This record gives sequence, structure tokens and C-alpha cells, in this order.
Amino acid sequence: MDIIPFNRPYTSPRAASAMMDAAERGHLSGDGHYTKLANTLLRALTGANRVLLTTSCTHALEMSAMLLDVGPGDEVIMPSFTFVSTANAFALRGARPVFVDIRPDTFNLDERLIEDAITERTKAIVVVHYAGVACEMDEIMDIAGRHGIPVIEDNAHGFGGRYRGRNLGTIGSLATLSFHETKNIQCGEGGALLVNDEAKFEPAEILREKGTNRSRFFRGQVDKYTWVSLGSSYLPSDLLAAYLVTQLEEFEEIQRRRRTIWDRYRTELADWAPERGFSFQYCPDDREHPAHLFALMAPDLEARQAMIKHLGEHAIKAVFHYVPLHSSPVGSSFGERHLPVTDDVSERLVRLPLFPTLADHEVDRVIAAVRSF
Ligand SMILES: *Cc1c(COP(=O)(O)O)cnc(C)c1O
Repeated sequence: MDIIPFNRPYTSPRAASAMMDAAERGHLSGDGHYTKLANTLLRALTGANRVLLTTSCTHALEMSAMLLDVGPGDEVIMPSFTFVSTANAFALRGARPVFVDIRPDTFNLDERLIEDAITERTKAIVVVHYAGVACEMDEIMDIAGRHGIPVIEDNAHGFGGRYRGRNLGTIGSLATLSFHETKNIQCGEGGALLVNDEAKFEPAEILREKGTNRSRFFRGQVDKYTWVSLGSSYLPSDLLAAYLVTQLEEFEEIQRRRRTIWDRYRTELADWAPERGFSFQYCPDDREHPAHLFALMAPDLEARQAMIKHLGEHAIKAVFHYVPLHSSPVGSSFGERHLPVTDDVSERLVRLPLFPTLADHEVDRVIAAVRSF
């Protein structure tokens, strides 16, 4: 029996010719022809006005921390149920991540607990739209607004997701996307910063261009470019941008296939799950998720481990995540936090294979194997 992997990164049949074309154009560094095309496509797909392609979502988060002037002594509110980059980006600037528990239904930051975590030192609130299911953004933006605290959307999962008619990534001051090979649209390693706070756009451009006003120079707004602030290099090569463009152009097809698989899992496990004490992440009717991941919730840790082993015996690779950050060696050094929902969800979650080249007969096999547990 062939092994069904957890993920098989999709490559467009047009990727090789696009990358060759990028090479032949003779501009292999950042911000070439394909980076501009990727920007145009990303603006159209996200509805964001200002998009900067970056080397990763991690780097876009680091840029966010710098743009908000996060530094030693500051606190940043975020979930513990997330990838390490959400916290690292701010901890690297010397700030303390303040982990807040998640909701038991959507697995997103529990908006009812945010206000209690706010102090004079709170510099930002970072939300993660888990599996691309939007957080309670109206409530969160309202709390943040009352306290004058900016919100950053770590939208690594939620490219294409919507909340009450708005695209994810266009609600907070800043938002980040990931094009890591495990994400819906990918180029191996890559990301983007969406700048919704217009005042942050020029500083973001400068920061990304080694602290120079090179972008203004190329637009003819200044007659020479020079070192104007601290910065680094967060530009992906145009070769990677070319690869990315071929995926962005196939966004609808990729999403349609992911959606079909996701819907099949949800529908064809619906009768089986309650009988065995399993359940699913909840997505309220006022939001759409982009079928980024399928979370099957076991009744307890033992059943979760047994399910992963059972699927392995059927040559199916299923995985779990996240190890809560507040209980990790580094995360716990920022102070003890009691986050019972985070602990519970992270112990019970199983992720089923979900990628666009997963064939119908493979989906059949996954569903049959889960049901035979
Ligand atoms: C994948 C992911 C990241 C990091 O993305 P990279 O592009 O690999 O840096 C950050 N946050 C979340 C929630 C992620 O899932």
C-alpha cells in the first residue's frame, strides 16, 4: 500500500518555465518583474492595498514588531496555541509574550480574556486565525481600539478566509501571510506583509530594503538612495516570486480542490464522529475558512495517539500540533500561565492529510481508515 503523506507540496506545471523566464530576464534579486506580478495578484486576492513580499511569515512578523517599535519591557498579547514564530518575532525584540487562552469552539484567542491581560506595557495584540477560521475580530478590534493598542493578524493559515464580508489580513494594522510549503499557496519559503495602516507603509518599505529609501528612488521620488533608518533584507529572489506567481494564478483551482477534500472529510465523518466521541473545530456562519487544515478532535490524549498510530498502520501519515508555547522551555520562562483550553485542545487534535494533489481514492482511504478506528 502506498503511503499517503501528510503533505505533498503542489508545484504548478508552469513553475519551471516561469522561473526560467525570471532568470532570463536577468533580474534574479528581489523586486523584479515577478515580485511585482505577485504583489498585484496578492492585492487582488487579499483586497489589501499595500503588500510587501517577504522571505517568510516569520520575517513579516519580525518586521511588524520593528514597525510597532516593540522593545524591552513591552508586552505582546497572543495565543499560546500557535507556531513559535508568532512569539519569537516579538521576544527577539526583547518583549514578553503574554499568552492568553483560546476559545473551546474556534480554537482562537478568547476575546473575553484579552482585557484582563492588558497592562500599561501592552504594545500589541497578535491574533492567529486558526485553520483560517477568523477570530472574533469585531470584539477584538473594539477592545484594542479602546486601549489604543494595534492589532496584528498572523494570517499564516487564513489566506482566502473571510469574516463578516471582510478578507482576513485586512482588519488589523498589519497582517502577515506564509508561503511555506505547508501552506495553501506556497513557494517553499516565503511570506508577505500586508500594511493596512498607511502610515506604516513607507517605514515598512525602508525596513525591508536594508534601511534605505531605494523603493522611493526607483519610483523617482528621490534622486539618490541612502541609509535612512535601521533595516534588514526581507526580499525574496525573483526566482521564488516566479514560482509563487504560478500558484497565485491557480488560486481558485487549488482552493476548490482543498475545499472538496475538506468537505468530504467533514460530511463523511459526521455520523461516525459523535459515536466515537470525536468532534470538529467550529466555524461560525458569519465567516469562511480557506480549507487550510482539517482538525479532527479526539475525546482525549490517549485516543488521539491511538488514532495517529491506527492511521499509520493504514499507511496514512496524520500529525498533531501545537505544543503550547506557554509550556515550552522558552515560553515558560516568560512566566507561568494557566491555559486549560489550550492544553486540552493541543492534546486532542489530529490533522488529516490535506493537499491539492490528494486523489479521490486517497481521500476514500483516509475516510475509511478513520471510520475503522
Ligand atoms: C507557518 C506559520 C508561521 C511561519 O511561517 P513561515 O513562512 O514558515 O515563517 C507563523 N505563524 C503561523 C500561525 C504559522 O502557521
